Amino acid sequence: MPLGEFELIRRYFAAASCAQGAAGVALGIGDDCALLELAGDEQLAVSTDTLVVGVHFPEQADPFLLGQRALGVSASDLAAMGAAPLGFTLAITLPAADADWLEAFARGLDCMAARCGLRLIGGDTTRGPLSLTLTVFGRLPRGQALTRAGAQVGDLLCVGGALGEAAAALPLVLGQVAADGVHAEALLARYWSPMPQLDLGQALRGRATAALDISDGLLADCGHIAQASAVGLRIELEHLPLSVALREQAGAKALTCALAGGDDYLLAFTLPPAELAPLQQAGWPIQVVGQAVAGSGVQVIDCNGAPFVLSHGGYQHFGPSRD
Ligand code: ADP
Ligand code: MG
Repeated sequence: MPLGEFELIRRYFAAASCAQGAAGVALGIGDDCALLELAGDEQLAVSTDTLVVGVHFPEQADPFLLGQRALGVSASDLAAMGAAPLGFTLAITLPAADADWLEAFARGLDCMAARCGLRLIGGDTTRGPLSLTLTVFGRLPRGQALTRAGAQVGDLLCVGGALGEAAAALPLVLGQVAADGVHAEALLARYWSPMPQLDLGQALRGRATAALDISDGLLADCGHIAQASAVGLRIELEHLPLSVALREQAGAKALTCALAGGDDYLLAFTLPPAELAPLQQAGWPIQVVGQAVAGSGVQVIDCNGAPFVLSHGGYQHFGPSRD
């Protein structure tokens, strides 16, 4: 049995002496961000993400879009914790110093940084196969972070918008399908310019009981909430928000995109039922897709209440779905 990505992290890194709790560390490995204690009543939220050519994006990727996407993906982890954005660092490995490429990449980065309210504060530049590591920093009032733990039986399971669109765009991104359909542009924008739900994350502070951002697919990511919160999550197929663009582009694969497609970078969270109406009335794009139940794991049920089984559960860099 190959070593899965999360088992690998658990065995070699989370179990290491240097990863054990310490004064000043409010939350370590295992959530969307780590939390460090600051003076006063605040905590610092930190998260790092790497994008590698040929794994996360194709070699010919448009550098402007890549700059946008790299920062959007990273900032999404701040949104998942309810943190207010502060700054980010950029460690970039480049095969060559191509001025045109760099100019476009920096513009893309700038564009997303302005949208997120993040400042570039440092980084590292080296030569090698193209890879990008962005570390984002945000701040939170102490004790108010949204973590993956905390969902209660009876809570509603919610998402921050229509699911699966980035996954439906993937065949277009990879050039497997001509990007000339009426929906291609909108879907490609969802892939290349994921808009981290930073404002929604902050609005959910003190309201949502658990949250994360969907990076590996709804099913796989809800599995993290279920595990960390020690509850079961039931997703109702008929309540999955599927856009017209998704249905028309993905056809029979629309449900698979919505349940198992990564890259949406929308928030998934649990809400006590009484919190829903005020948030929706305030205009937040919240869709209820299921609820937290007694038990464990994530179950999808169809409109007859029968279990719906999807063969592909979500993306892992090592382990079952890859090998
Ligand atoms: P996300 O999808 O939110 O970026 P991941 O699924 O990549 O989070 O990672 C899960 C958790 O494991 C996070 O808390 C992350 O910080 C931690 N993690 C991942 N890789 C390592 C590593 N090599 N060393 C220590 N912690 C790690
Ligand atoms: Mg995350």
